Parts: sequence; structure tokens; C-alpha cells
Amino acid sequence: MNFLDRILFYVYPGACAFCGALMPHSKTGVYICPECMEKVRFCARGSCCPICGAPLDAEPAEDGRRAALCPECFSLRRGGVRRSFDRIIAACAYDENSSGGIIKYKRGLSLGSASTFAGIIAANIRGRLPDIKFDFVAAVPPRRARIREVGFDQCDLLARKTAKALGVPYVKGALKRAREGKKQTELSGDERRANLAGAFETRLGADKIKGKTILVIDDVKTTGSTMEECARALKDKGAAYVCGAAIAAAGREAN
Ligand SMILES: [Zn+2]
Ligand SMILES: [Zn+2]
Repeated sequence: MNFLDRILFYVYPGACAFCGALMPHSKTGVYICPECMEKVRFCARGSCCPICGAPLDAEPAEDGRRAALCPECFSLRRGGVRRSFDRIIAACAYDENSSGGIIKYKRGLSLGSASTFAGIIAANIRGRLPDIKFDFVAAVPPRRARIREVGFDQCDLLARKTAKALGVPYVKGALKRAREGKKQTELSGDERRANLAGAFETRLGADKIKGKTILVIDDVKTTGSTMEECARALKDKGAAYVCGAAIAAAGREAN
């Protein structure tokens, strides 16, 4: 550590977004300690489903003939089912190594982690979609009851910081809840889908959406139902391409 870094470490240390360990000041605003860098399953190419972002246990075929899809995307594709989102990208797997820090952030107990989470989402978007130029970034809107409980909107902050990191405009409030559904975490996969059908709409006029390439930010992607419904609201108004992105994606077995 040089002199300036040492001063910054004492005056303005950062905390690892996953485990909270204090770390030297980072100019990038991304704080992941060496231990979490090892333990957290970051989604590299081939280690997660290229359509929905679900972490995959199987290694991709070495001959590279086809990218491995998760079982759900594989069977939907085989059945000719088209989903509204074009793809979902997650920065890491949602498991015991990543969930602690993410839950803390969602509860509003570590707002500083927003920069780290936005930084790793932005890096994944840039790395995996280098040719896509997004027109704007939107956030998955929170349930109103959640804002009352926690007092802040974790996806709004995450989306704002991700947009800044990518140099793309952020349109606050682009998506809103058409109605208040039940809390998703209390429901099974099928119940989640039913609970969310038509749950979102967009405040923007069709002229602001038609033909646009849009990035929608969520905190954790579980079944993909939330992203599907957000994307549907945007596609209904003519969006050309909707990519969802989240800090972490749950494995299919977690559904
Ligand atoms: Zn850590
Ligand atoms: Zn998938």
C-alpha cells in the first residue's frame, strides 16, 4: 500500500460487498475481498445459462458446438415458446457465498455496496454484450409495502449506478406496478408466474419505447417471472430488445 492508499484506507475504507471485510480505498468503487473473489461463483461464459442467466452445474461442451442452456430454457426453446425478454445476465450465482451481502444491501444496511454490485453488473454487460447499444436503463419497480418496510428502493439505486457505469441514461420510474401482487418470496414457481401476470406497466409513451434497446435492472433473478413481465410491458409498447440484469441468479434447483 502506498502512502495515499494507506491514508484512504484509514479515512475512507471500503467494505467487501459480499462479506463486509474492510478493504483499502478503491478508485473504481468496487469492493470484493480476495476471499470472496475466490468463493463467490461469478458467472463466466459457459457457467450460466446464456438465455436466463441461471448458474449451470454442467460444464459447457468442449467442442463448443452449442452453448449449454438450463433445462427450462432448453425445453421452452424446443417447444417453440418465445419469451418477452431477450436475455438475462447475472453477475454471480445466488448461493450461501453471495446471499449475505445481497440481503444486507436489500435491507438498506449496506448502501455502499451499490457501487460494487453496479460495477460487476456493468462489467458483465460490457463483456458479454459488447455490440449492444442500450438506449436507456430501467429498474424493476418495488412493491409499495417494501418501500414502507425498508425505506429505500434498492433496484432504483442499483439501476442508477449501473447506468452511470455504462454511460447510458437512466429513466427513473419507466416501469411501475400495475397492481400490488403478493410477496414473491412466499410463492412457488407457478404461483410466482400467476401472481405477476400483467403486474407491470410502463409510464412512458410508445414513442419513447418503440424500437428501443432497454436494460432492466433487478437485484436477484429467481424464476425470471419478474423480468418476463417487465419485458412484456416494454415489448407490448414496441421495445425492440429487452435485456434483464441482476446481481445474482438462483440456480434452477432453488425454484
Ligand atoms: Zn469478502
Ligand atoms: Zn435458462
